[in-house]
Amino acid sequence: MDDLYRQIIIDRYKNPIFRGNLDPHDISFEDDNPLCGDFIRIEMLVSEDGFVEKAVFDGHGCAISIASADLLLESIHGKSIDEVKSLTKEDVLDLLGIELGPVRLKCALLSLKVLKAGAYGVGEASDDLLE
Ligand code: ZN
Repeated sequence: MDDLYRQIIIDRYKNPIFRGNLDPHDISFEDDNPLCGDFIRIEMLVSEDGFVEKAVFDGHGCAISIASADLLLESIHGKSIDEVKSLTKEDVLDLLGIELGPVRLKCALLSLKVLKAGAYGVGEASDDLLE
């Protein structure tokens, strides 16, 4: 099972499905993880009744940060913004399916922080958003 998940992370890092830009978009947010040099920008189109129609990311970083962003955005298509707001770090770790030390955890959770900061419309992506 470990090997399978690791292969997914490598595949999504090399060939992310949800990498791109949306212009126009309803929500955009970006932040970086200075510990590793990861940078993620997320753009979303949201329907009038509050559902994610399309979400993409752009940026650069390590395999974990990129794969995490790609898998996370895949998981939110068709979800309501309220559901996006209620995502937790456990949801991201479930998507990745591997154990992560504290440094790699920051990489894995950058996209969630960016996504939730955008969904909440707050000015800053704080760690409080990960709970
Ligand atoms: Zn990283």
